[in-house]
Amino acid sequence: MTQYVYRFGGGVAEGSAEDKNLLGGKGANLAEMAAIGLPVPPGFTISTEMCTRYYDEGERFPESLIEEVKAGVAHIETVTGKQFGSAADPLLVSVRSGARVSMPGMMDTVLNLGLNDETVRGLAEISGDERFAWDSYRRFVQMYSDVVLGLDHDAFEDALEIMKEDNGFFLDTDMEASHWQALVAEYKTIVEAQWGKPFPQDVNDQLWGAVSAVFGSWQADRAKVYRKLNDIPGNWGTAVNVQAMVFGNMGDTSATGVAFTRNPSTGEHAYYGEWLINAQGEDVVAGIRTPQYLTKSAREQAGAKPLSMEEAMPETFAELARVFDLLEAHYRDMQDIEFTVERGQLWMLQTRSGKRTAKAALKIAVDMVAEKLISEQEAILRVDPMALDQLLHPTLDPDAKRDVLTTGLPASPGAASGKIVFDADSAERHNEMGEDVILVRVETSPEDIHGMHAARGILTARGGMTSHAAVVARGMGRPCVSGAGSLSIDNNAGTLTIGSRVMKAGDVLTIDGSTGEVMLGEVPTLQPELVGDFGTLMVWADGVRRLRVRTNAETPNDCAVAREFGAEGIGLCRTEHMFFDASRITAVRQMILAESEEGRREALAKLLPEQRSDFAEIFRVMAGLPVTIRLLDPPLHEFLPHSESEFADVAEAAGIGIEVLKRRSAELHEFNPMLGHRGCRLGVTYPEIYEVQARAIFEAACDVAEESGAAPIPEVMIPLVATRKELTLMKAVVDDVAAQVFAEKGRVLEYLVGTMIELPRAALMADNIAHDAEFFSFGTNDLTQTTLGVSRDDAARFLGQYVDKGIYPRDPFVSLDIEGVGQLIEIAVEKGRKTRSDIKLGICGEHGGDPASIAFCEAAGLDYVSASPYRVPIARLAAAQAALKS
Ligand code: ADP
Ligand code: MG
Ligand code: MG
Repeated sequence: MTQYVYRFGGGVAEGSAEDKNLLGGKGANLAEMAAIGLPVPPGFTISTEMCTRYYDEGERFPESLIEEVKAGVAHIETVTGKQFGSAADPLLVSVRSGARVSMPGMMDTVLNLGLNDETVRGLAEISGDERFAWDSYRRFVQMYSDVVLGLDHDAFEDALEIMKEDNGFFLDTDMEASHWQALVAEYKTIVEAQWGKPFPQDVNDQLWGAVSAVFGSWQADRAKVYRKLNDIPGNWGTAVNVQAMVFGNMGDTSATGVAFTRNPSTGEHAYYGEWLINAQGEDVVAGIRTPQYLTKSAREQAGAKPLSMEEAMPETFAELARVFDLLEAHYRDMQDIEFTVERGQLWMLQTRSGKRTAKAALKIAVDMVAEKLISEQEAILRVDPMALDQLLHPTLDPDAKRDVLTTGLPASPGAASGKIVFDADSAERHNEMGEDVILVRVETSPEDIHGMHAARGILTARGGMTSHAAVVARGMGRPCVSGAGSLSIDNNAGTLTIGSRVMKAGDVLTIDGSTGEVMLGEVPTLQPELVGDFGTLMVWADGVRRLRVRTNAETPNDCAVAREFGAEGIGLCRTEHMFFDASRITAVRQMILAESEEGRREALAKLLPEQRSDFAEIFRVMAGLPVTIRLLDPPLHEFLPHSESEFADVAEAAGIGIEVLKRRSAELHEFNPMLGHRGCRLGVTYPEIYEVQARAIFEAACDVAEESGAAPIPEVMIPLVATRKELTLMKAVVDDVAAQVFAEKGRVLEYLVGTMIELPRAALMADNIAHDAEFFSFGTNDLTQTTLGVSRDDAARFLGQYVDKGIYPRDPFVSLDIEGVGQLIEIAVEKGRKTRSDIKLGICGEHGGDPASIAFCEAAGLDYVSASPYRVPIARLAAAQAALKS
């Protein structure tokens, strides 16, 4: 027969920390603490398997459970020497829920169960403290009524308030035994009025009521919502813990508290916590009384008066400190602990790995290696790569005041303050004048790139987490709040309205791209550091990872940031970003609108020196590291002029009439630009564009090799290839230019020509394409769009619901769709290697910075991942973890 009840305490431990699935986190750790000899009040855990069976069998308990629970209660009685329901020396218990992972939304704990009109007198007698007994009883009636019976708790609060008022008391501690006794009578009347039955006096009815309520709470709406949000399966179930009460409310030698073995916000190796004298557990968190500091130094630092536990109960504190150290040594991790002191005797009620900030996680991991508690490899696995994001961007000073106007989506992390500007050109102008600006737009488009770059942060009224603004901002490392729906922008009036507040250009805003908050005025920020513990952990991570980590960057500044963060090359340099520059856009437009090759070549001649100097800058910063440069990719219409003055500029530069230009511009309209005249299709139709870009690349590479001696390694990437023939044609263009330039410069450099794999056909034909491609870079943004048939720019309207409904487990533009897109990558890897065994393989989509996708890349055997500069450290750590886990 299946065992459903597992006992602990009094020298018994039928479970251990390994049994979290069966006993829940709380139950498993109570058993573990009992097993290592710590003072744990005896009790038993009803397993999660029982919960599952309870629901399978129509919410009924099997006969066998009733017997097992009886035996469990008998175990507690034996260890404590008390009797459940006895009027002479009553045993009281707590009933606590406990799933595998801590789960808000589950039933709250019921304390002091086992009290009734008889046992309360026994408790008073045996404790010699009538006030304590009646205080415990009123707590129990209130909690049970609230948590188990589901009665309206306001009535109970009101009764307590009235009782205090009638007696002229302010604090609960002013109440005496007779007051609590009178309150219990009031409470029982309320229960009978609301519930229609008297408060249960049979202690076994009380116990089964509470056990049923815990199991019942597993299917409560709030628990279901929490499970959905956190991917917790509904069939896990919860355990129930029944445990002998220990009393922190038995006078001034009793207390209760919560503690961390190290500081959870800084990681400092110092005990950290709060406690209350003469109180029960829930009082500390409930905020009825202000808790006191645990240690003397913490109390002094805060300038607080009420004594710390270290000072008020030095012996018990020393005992507690010993337990902290023992628990840390045992679990080899920082612990979050609940304890109670009953008349000087310490009892442990809970332990678990403590939640911590990224900063604390790093410090604790590195310190624990120094303390020889864990290995370097364990330290690497202890830190959540995504949590590092908190440390890689300027963050708002947590102590600063904020006037929050509204909250949008946390689209790109980091905080920024600046003056409001409503268009990209103003952003650039103000930036040149040395002013910090926040670019505020309804939404952004590729023409805003220069303004986004010039701005400290970006705020949009529309667009989701994968909107243009969000994606570009993350790539640039600019904080961004997108989709702040309550924002209304009036471009004519030059105003921004949020609720009743109206702001105009030049007013200062602060945005927090990590929380989505939009604040009025400047809120001070703290700068990121990649030193100290962070640096140490990164060195360890680099020691174990196999995947190389590159960056997606196109400005010398972004390249420099990425190198600071440890990038080992560039995986994607998008040349078009350089085209939007104010000094070039007219020449770019002239090229696009030209009607002949000759016209295009004339414009390209103006762009050549500009591109050459851009590439030279990048090669210098990357000093001999590989640099993958993608030739022109986006549909040409993205560059087209809009305003009359823009057309006039192009007309003048090209010596063509405005009307002709406008006609040409209209001809370039596409119905579906994402699938239109873009990528290598531009190179196939206008080879001179790729020819000039290749020339700029090789001339720059030769120049930098000449001046520095560190020969750059250009990797020329042809985008949007579907067939081998496209690549064959484009590779010939590139190779011809390379040969010419090398002849002109009298120097031969190593270089590669390869392709992006971003169309399903290319993945399927990879063996064929690999005859010409020396590398594949998986462009998973477009590969996701083209495989799923979903336009990233339009996905915001429905993708959220797709994720809610479990159609995709996560946003496939954020975390790779491993089943589908991943399969295409695997096919391409296998086929590519079959043709060319040493083909270089990398990923350059947004996924290159996502830990789950990086784990996939490790398994798929890619050579490198490429992430935006601010994600490089995340990718380094994720790559190390992936290597350790594989
Ligand atoms: P949560 O998961 O919400 O923290 P717990 O079951 O840990 O719920 O209990 C809530 C409070 O009651 C905690 O402060 C805990 O220490 C206290 N508590 C639980 N069981 C007992 C007990 N047997 N004796 C004394 N206090 C207890
Ligand atoms: Mg707890
Ligand atoms: Mg692409």
